[in-house]
Amino acid sequence: MANNMTDTITKPDTNNDSTSPQQNGNTAGQSWFERPIPGIKQQLTAQLTAVETEPSTKCSSCHSIITNTALIFNCYVCPHCDHHLPMSARERLNWLLDQVEGELGQEFTAKDPLKFVDSKPYPNRMAEAQTKTGESEALIVLYGKLRNLDVVTCAFDFRFMGGSMGSVVGDRFVQAAEKALADRVPLVCFAASGGARMQEGLLSLMQMARTAAAIERLRIAGVPYIVILTNPVYGGVTASLAMLGDIHLAEPKAMIGFAGKRVIEQTVRETLEEPFQRAEFLLEHGVVDEVVHRHQMIDTIYRLLAKLCSVPNVDV
Ligand SMILES: [Zn+2]
Repeated sequence: MANNMTDTITKPDTNNDSTSPQQNGNTAGQSWFERPIPGIKQQLTAQLTAVETEPSTKCSSCHSIITNTALIFNCYVCPHCDHHLPMSARERLNWLLDQVEGELGQEFTAKDPLKFVDSKPYPNRMAEAQTKTGESEALIVLYGKLRNLDVVTCAFDFRFMGGSMGSVVGDRFVQAAEKALADRVPLVCFAASGGARMQEGLLSLMQMARTAAAIERLRIAGVPYIVILTNPVYGGVTASLAMLGDIHLAEPKAMIGFAGKRVIEQTVRETLEEPFQRAEFLLEHGVVDEVVHRHQMIDTIYRLLAKLCSVPNVDV
């Protein structure tokens, strides 16, 4: 009896002591606002860490945050608003080519003949751009295969001093054109540039004539040259190699022109409306042959080249 009595007295006490903190979520000794709310609070912290750890990019059009993995899988097109985000030159060429066989023009390096200094010396600016992009110049030339076609391709990297055309860009473009001419394979160029590079003065302006002469040699030999105008293309690049293609494609809403909107407005003393210098506006006015969504770009380039190179059994 005595044992039973102690059991019945002590058992409820021990049970209460041991079970109450577990069942009530350790509320003993805590005020009401310190009590954890398991479902909500844990979920919130989990979401925050996922966003913090995954590298992501903000869409410049709709401002939504997109993970870089999702962007790469979607060819740098925003999945929310279809805005075409910029691609680096190397990414673009690796995306276009099924097989890369080699690169041209790596031996050329920029000189500083004018000893040009603006807010900083030209060699310092070059070194900064090289560190930022991992590239040695603003134009990348790769050759290889697009499906069953041999092609020479080049692309401007706008992150490298605004994709500006200096003497090395001219050297590389001419070398690409000479390779296309020697092998009699098409040349494809993705243009994205602010124009000629002011730090090289007249030398950069001379590249307009050099590249135009190289394209003329392709035209005489009947070697196809296709230009894809991406956002933005301006200045000396528009005035030379970007407007001398056999076919001009453009990405949606790309800004394409010679002088910028503000300069023209100041010159003609008129306000220019929004579609001005957009790819769609230029398509209506016959400057561009077709505005192509990035998801259809590779297929469109291939079909055009196959037609120009008379490849049989390709539906154009
Ligand atoms: Zn967007």
